[in-house]
Amino acid sequence: MRWMTPQMMATTTPPLTNSTMHASPEDIAQAIVALSEGRLVAFPTETVYGLGADAFDATLVEGIFRAKGRPASNPLIVHVVDESMAKRVCAAWPAEASVLAAKFWPGPLTLVLPKAEGVPGIVTAGGSTVAVRCPSHPLTLALLETLGSPMVGPSANRSGHISPTCAAHVRMSFDENQVFILDGGPCTGGIESTVLDLTRDPPRVLRPGLVSAEEIAEALGSAVTDAQHPSGTGQH
Ligand code: AMP
Ligand code: MG
Repeated sequence: MRWMTPQMMATTTPPLTNSTMHASPEDIAQAIVALSEGRLVAFPTETVYGLGADAFDATLVEGIFRAKGRPASNPLIVHVVDESMAKRVCAAWPAEASVLAAKFWPGPLTLVLPKAEGVPGIVTAGGSTVAVRCPSHPLTLALLETLGSPMVGPSANRSGHISPTCAAHVRMSFDENQVFILDGGPCTGGIESTVLDLTRDPPRVLRPGLVSAEEIAEALGSAVTDAQHPSGTGQH
């Protein structure tokens, strides 16, 4: 983790321009401190608020499963600031991943790829693949950049409850001692990210979301299948 005082943050963090944003660079510094103290940080994305911790810290990730009451069989999405950070959690990065990252990141497209050895098994529910995405919210991108590490980020609610689209929703589930909230205002999407399995050929949409199979097929220039409609292969 790279350490920064609020003063350093003010001079090194790019200006945050989202008009709906409530937090400041000082809040990002506080979030980093909270993480270093073992607290979880709820962060805004374009879909819903995520509950974050360093993806390489198995103990903190375990804390997320506990706090949410999430079954250990449900793997987490790892959030990254860019392709280069994504490559740290993936054992392979095919050309398709670069094409899709260039087209849809930051944005609501999650890519499933072979997992790098260093990613704790708890993140992937013991599986050999990892789900990774770059969220489109300037505050969260600044948080990831400052932390210098990828973060897991399931929705910041207790399992089975409605996903939070504003800070007040998060606070209804978790108290201040447990979760620091980076308040970025209301999320605009509310709908989950599309999950695309790139370990299959052709790639397969595992979970529908804001980015359609058609848009993905068009970007790749090749067919994409849809787990929910296995017979209808995606057009291009
Ligand atoms: P969420 O609960 O919205 O944070 O999204 C987590 C979902 O992403 C899981 O329930 C899976 O549907 C999907 N996911 C995460 N990791 C993987 C993976 N390694 N392989 C396939 N799907 C995954
Ligand atoms: Mg959820």
